[in-house]
Amino acid sequence: MKNSGSVEAVEGRLCECLSKTGLRPTPQRQRVYTALLETPAHPTAEEVFMRVKQDMPDISLATVYNCLDTFVQCGLVRQVVHERGATRYCANTEEHHHFYCDECHRTYDIPAASSTRRLAFEVPAGFVVRRFEIVFQGLCPKCLANRSESAEYP
Ligand SMILES: [Zn+2]
Ligand SMILES: [Zn+2]
Repeated sequence: MKNSGSVEAVEGRLCECLSKTGLRPTPQRQRVYTALLETPAHPTAEEVFMRVKQDMPDISLATVYNCLDTFVQCGLVRQVVHERGATRYCANTEEHHHFYCDECHRTYDIPAASSTRRLAFEVPAGFVVRRFEIVFQGLCPKCLANRSESAEYP
C-alpha cells in the first residue's frame, strides 16, 4: 500500500493522530492500525479482526470496532459505506474518491487529482462545503476483461 511506510512512520502517524484526541497508542490500537494497512485495501471490521486475532488471540471484535471508531474520529481512517454490504475502512490518508465495482464488489481508490473529466457542482446558496466525496460505481478493469473474454457474442 502506498501510504504504509516503515513501521516507525506508521507508529509516528498513529501517535500523532491519537494525541490530538488525548488518547494513547495502546498495543491493541497499534495492532489494529497495522492490520488495517496489511490487509488488502478497504477491509471490513471482521476482516481486520481475523488478522489481529492471529497474534492477539484475546482481542474481541468489539475492541476492534472501538479502535476503528477512534481512528475514524481522529481522521486517520475513513469509513467507506456502500448501500449494499458492510462498512469498510480505508487507511489511505491522501485525498481520494472511491470506485465501487458492481461485479466483484471491491472498492478502489481513485486519486482526487486523476479525474479525467471535469466535474462541476452547483451548491445552493447558504450551504458551506467542508468536505465532499464522490462514489463511482461500475466495472473495474479486471471484471471488464473477464466479461469480454466470456462474451459469446463479442
Ligand atoms: Zn480508500
Ligand atoms: Zn470488479
